[in-house]
Amino acid sequence: REKTPPSNLHDKIRVCVRKRPLNSKEKERGDKDIVVATGARSLSVMEPKVKVDLTKYIEESRFVFDEVFSENATNTQVYERTAKPLVEYIFGGGNATCFAYGQTGSGKTYTMLDAHNGLYIQAADDLFAMAARPEHSHLNVHVSFYEIYLTNLYDLLANRAKLNAREDANQNVCIQGLREVLVQSSDDLLSVFEYGNNCRSTGSTGANSDSSRSHAILQISLRDSTSQRGSVIRGKLSFIDLAGNERGADRGDRADKQTMMEGAEINKSLLALKECIRALDLNKKHQPFRQSKLTQVLKDSFLGNSRACMVATISPNTSNSDNTLNTLRYADRVK
Ligand code: ADP
Ligand code: MG
Repeated sequence: REKTPPSNLHDKIRVCVRKRPLNSKEKERGDKDIVVATGARSLSVMEPKVKVDLTKYIEESRFVFDEVFSENATNTQVYERTAKPLVEYIFGGGNATCFAYGQTGSGKTYTMLDAHNGLYIQAADDLFAMAARPEHSHLNVHVSFYEIYLTNLYDLLANRAKLNAREDANQNVCIQGLREVLVQSSDDLLSVFEYGNNCRSTGSTGANSDSSRSHAILQISLRDSTSQRGSVIRGKLSFIDLAGNERGADRGDRADKQTMMEGAEINKSLLALKECIRALDLNKKHQPFRQSKLTQVLKDSFLGNSRACMVATISPNTSNSDNTLNTLRYADRVK
């Protein structure tokens, strides 16, 4: 096992990788597991290759991240070292964002938005425990849930109503008419989530039948009910299940114009996201928010007092090696 000093749970930017187990379908077709978590922070991809003279060899690509979660890691273990430190952080008045990045089928939704044990609901348990403390009695917890498909915003808590984002005179970005629901407990939040999630997959506009092509954004805000200027946000924690990062070729059956447009837009937003997170770390003044809808609506999560944690999810099997390596290279460049 490789020895790298443990990462700091309170870093402004954290980039983590999670490998899912090989599934039964992959096992049945003889697909091999080529990803090895070699340490708490390191992993290797062992790609089988063939030379021109037909001799076989293994090409090893090594990576180091803030955290590497093996196929044996539970959502609870992932939570402890990703979203948990962010819950505490937002009570100090900051914004924090947790992203799941990776190809479709690699475990983004399972990690971030699994109804009963995803990072969002574990965070909610801790968040409500903290909100119950007397010193936080002035804070109310609100939740919003929306998705971005192409450059459109849809409110998942309002029957997928289409919304617009506007920038005001102070350059604050606001999504007009976005529904925010007051929640009193984790159970409350779970039912709001389930309502919205249902809306996501059964969207009736026909614009988005495939949720892997959209970004889903669940935001939990702490609002100060006693503030004189109305209810002011005192901290915000966002959970983002990003659209699949795979290239067009992997979506075989849908090589049409719509698919190409989706792919181009997703690509653009994921590139802009990387730049915005990097800029956050470097405390840069000028950030490329406007390059995509995703980064535009998340603008306040990339400003000074913010933290970001990315969980890059990867599939372990041979046939996904290109996507896995693309994901790892992207994650490697975020920080
Ligand atoms: P994505 O959202 O990236 O498309 P999903 O989260 O839907 O992928 O995961 C694809 C499948 O793999 C699901 O059936 C999910 O339950 C399973 N899965 C993903 N990650 C894990 C994991 N770490 N352990 C066990 N099963 C997993
Ligand atoms: Mg998903």
